[in-house]
Amino acid sequence: MAIGEEADAVAGGNGGTSQARAHRTRRVQAYPRGRIATEADLAETRRLLGDLVSPDHLAQDHLIEALHIVHEAKGYLSLGRLAALAQLARLSMAEVFEVATFYAHFDIRADGDDRPPIVVRVCDGLPCEMAGARRIYQALYKALGERVVMAPCMGQCAAAPAAEVHTPAGAQHLTALDKAEDITGHITAAMKRHEEIAPASKSLEDYCKQGGYRCLKRLATGDLSPAEVIETLNKAQLRGLGGAGFPTGRKWAMVAGQPVTPRYVAVNADEGEPGTFKDRHFLETNPHQVLEGALIAAKVVGADAVYFYLRDEYAAVRRLLTREIARLGPHAQGIKIHLRRGAGAYICGEESAMLESLEGKRGLPRHKPPYPGEVGLFSRPTVINNVETLYWVREILVRGADFYGKAGRNGGIGWRAYSVSGRVREPGVKIAEAGITVQELIQEHCGGMAEGHVFKAYLPGGASGGILPATMADLPLTFGTLEPHGCFVGSAAVVVLSEHDDIADAVRNLMRFFKYESCGQCTPCRIGTAKACDLLDQPAWDRALLEDLAQVMRDASICGLGQAAPNPMQCALKYFAQEIPQDI
Ligand code: SF4
Repeated sequence: MAIGEEADAVAGGNGGTSQARAHRTRRVQAYPRGRIATEADLAETRRLLGDLVSPDHLAQDHLIEALHIVHEAKGYLSLGRLAALAQLARLSMAEVFEVATFYAHFDIRADGDDRPPIVVRVCDGLPCEMAGARRIYQALYKALGERVVMAPCMGQCAAAPAAEVHTPAGAQHLTALDKAEDITGHITAAMKRHEEIAPASKSLEDYCKQGGYRCLKRLATGDLSPAEVIETLNKAQLRGLGGAGFPTGRKWAMVAGQPVTPRYVAVNADEGEPGTFKDRHFLETNPHQVLEGALIAAKVVGADAVYFYLRDEYAAVRRLLTREIARLGPHAQGIKIHLRRGAGAYICGEESAMLESLEGKRGLPRHKPPYPGEVGLFSRPTVINNVETLYWVREILVRGADFYGKAGRNGGIGWRAYSVSGRVREPGVKIAEAGITVQELIQEHCGGMAEGHVFKAYLPGGASGGILPATMADLPLTFGTLEPHGCFVGSAAVVVLSEHDDIADAVRNLMRFFKYESCGQCTPCRIGTAKACDLLDQPAWDRALLEDLAQVMRDASICGLGQAAPNPMQCALKYFAQEIPQDI
């Protein structure tokens, strides 16, 4: 099946647009290109992929899932297996190779390289590093060697330090590792565990008993109209809570008004901003409320299918969603939900990169607006919403627009899930009024600062949202209030630092993250983040050079990653001058 054919089947097989038809025609190859796969690799790859190859073709939008399946068989991808995948997908080996190597979770090996696979990833996100992750990595490395690597934020920041361990029951997260007396013993025991650590979520039955899926049913029966839903969301002033803050009702109305079909809903569950774990919380505790929100979006905009893009780090959530989506039956009102996973790339949280990834490509952010004639599965009208946004949709429709639109403090509007980590007594997801200050958040929701720690600084919006000193703890944490100070609230990931934490070290950690996660598409970001890391490692920071570099990155990077990467560095220069390394 070629790219786009599955979508046409879902939409009723009308063939789609002429652009999409041309795209399919162009893609189908009559012969393999590049390295030819051996019969043995082809047969084994076909066997592993099962129904994903149909009848003798792997659709490109299934390529990342196919890479996962083949990777899981051995713990790595051999070049021979990549050649087989290329042949089945009717792509060149180079195309498959560049997709596989783009994503951090695929370990590519030359044929015959039979080193043992990676089994433990220790998180080196800022909250984990503050909690001693590097020491844990070193202890594990002594015992397990190259089977242990450091890896970016895993969304377990409230129970840092954390690691992902590969077990016979699939990938599992182990948290609060500093509390284990024997960390190596703890991890190696987990590696042999056959039972999965499953999240305790609200069941479909309990959700339905509390009125779940009733809003969707009302939409399906005409008791509630799409226009009423959009009007309610507009009145509630619900905005995109993944970070961009675009008004949800307006976005839905724009897609609903497009004359082109089929239309899609894409759920962005790729929260990778270090310090953010609120979407995981909603998916683990109440997955059906998020699913109903997505299905309501689909009904309102006239979409036939929902594509759910989940970050690969959330393996337990994926198992949960797979089970719950399969149980939906008539509750889904005939709308198909496709659950797709990423493969370890922060940039795929950027919506156009996410669409690229859903199409089975590298997650390179698209130029906006799209080039005329740009084609692909998701060149059709698509509503893209973050998990938390969709969670609030059903809440607003049931409780009324005022429940949300009249909430908020200090000028903020609505409710938000703040992911709080770092030096507070009770870290975690805190549902609070939008506009709450960090001081209020710490005192009212987190039980104050952790024992022995004095509040010194905070990240109001994860790695890219900048760093502010404790003297600025009275700023409302909401859209638009932090920008004049060189910061933003973004996904509301609040990391609290204390007098025990070094600002320069925090900045280095964050810039290393951006360097690692830059997709490499544009020079200001690819070279800029690398150059910034070098400059930040110098014994004295060159303020003028860093400011100049920051300006170039801001002005000339294609997407938000490169534009926002300098934020922590510039905040350090502006607010923590006494802490930055300088010549004596
Ligand atoms: Fe890629 Fe960075 Fe450019 Fe964004 S800014 S497109 S992440 S290189």
